[in-house]
Amino acid sequence: MSHVDGNAIAGDLGAIFAGDLSMAVATCDGCGATGPVATVMVYEGMGEVLRCPECDTVLLRLIRSRGETRLDMRGIRLLRWQSAG
Ligand SMILES: [Zn+2]
Repeated sequence: MSHVDGNAIAGDLGAIFAGDLSMAVATCDGCGATGPVATVMVYEGMGEVLRCPECDTVLLRLIRSRGETRLDMRGIRLLRWQSAG
């Protein structure tokens, strides 16, 4: 099977992360709970940490520092949302 490099998805990723994902539905990798991102617990400090309201698993870590963004989403098993159009 042939493949292309990551540049092929750059436009799609840019469109996704530029949009409002608060109504996206996340599935927790810890307990399988599923719900809108807007309902998770958010802790702010050096960055932002999102935790599952059911089991406290860290869903996502977001750190912005010195012009760099770090996004760790390993606690989200699946993130889904309605696409525009
Ligand atoms: Zn959970």
